[in-house]
Amino acid sequence: MKTSPYETEALETCLRAFSDLVASQDEIQRAQLGDDWAWQYSGGKSNFHLVVSVMIHGDEVGPLEGLLDVMEAIQSGKLQYDGLITCVVGNPEAGRRVKRFIDVDLNRVFDSELRARQPEELHYEEARAQSLMRLFDQCDLLIDFHQTILDSAQPFYICPWSEETWRWMRLMGGAKVWVTRHPHRGGGGLLCADEYVRQRGKPAVALELGALGFTSKARAGVWKSLSRAIKAINEISQKTATLSELANAEPDLKFYETSYRARFDNPLLTLKEGLVNFTEVQCEERLSPLGSDLDHLPDISAPQSGVILFPKYPPRDEGGEVIEPRPRELYRIISPLSSHPLELWTDKSTDQ
Ligand SMILES: [Zn+2]
Repeated sequence: MKTSPYETEALETCLRAFSDLVASQDEIQRAQLGDDWAWQYSGGKSNFHLVVSVMIHGDEVGPLEGLLDVMEAIQSGKLQYDGLITCVVGNPEAGRRVKRFIDVDLNRVFDSELRARQPEELHYEEARAQSLMRLFDQCDLLIDFHQTILDSAQPFYICPWSEETWRWMRLMGGAKVWVTRHPHRGGGGLLCADEYVRQRGKPAVALELGALGFTSKARAGVWKSLSRAIKAINEISQKTATLSELANAEPDLKFYETSYRARFDNPLLTLKEGLVNFTEVQCEERLSPLGSDLDHLPDISAPQSGVILFPKYPPRDEGGEVIEPRPRELYRIISPLSSHPLELWTDKSTDQ
């Protein structure tokens, strides 16, 4: 029996706190923002515009709690911020229904072509994307917080390589590892929020903070990474430090890329229990469960050594078959990059 990763009442409390902060803004500012799920603050000393998004996937509610801590600290002056910050809740309605999305995955519809369409032709998520793109268009840095369905042995950044994004990630300290890929290869056209911003030539960070739900990990992860980004923006605007200097003062990240995707091509494919994101596996390690009553299940073994990402445990019928629609992938393996992306991928002629 699948249990809910959070109480909807707890989410309502957080959404109400967010709405109260929105309501405390002056009317002109609210009208300019044109989005009930956007809150903005201006420190008035720098034009740098940081946009922070949570719940782009509705049920990834944990980061909202940390975001509220940051918004309240900025509003009360406890956290000093010189620039402009806009905080958004991506998909509150899906969150209320404890779902990733209602009609379409919001993180797959950030398409500039949407902006020309009439609101009445749009799905809920398309309308949200249309509104959010207007805000993303003005940002100098996007920080987009997510959670994974299963837990993770550690938080991780996940998005294509960009040198500027790397510097922000490093100084933020939200994770020690980055699951990345060449900026112009594979996975393109996903139309996710970070991709949309990156294509406009601005840095965009996507950070995964462990399993769904209101967790201390997610709350603390948002606070740490945002308060450090805010401090850095202040220092950069005051010209007391550069982005490179601030990044270089922190340990470098470890870089991974996807090296294997296991296709879910048989409804009986079943992973053994206990695999979470960032579980290390050895080549030929058995990944299917053992047991005499499980003989009918196909054997699965890791085709290479590496780290497991996005293992799937979908609901099944009594015969052990997945209830359709089944996910496309059963799991993937990621492996450390052979050298630093700066050496591998920084191609000045094509970099945006
Ligand atoms: Zn997500």
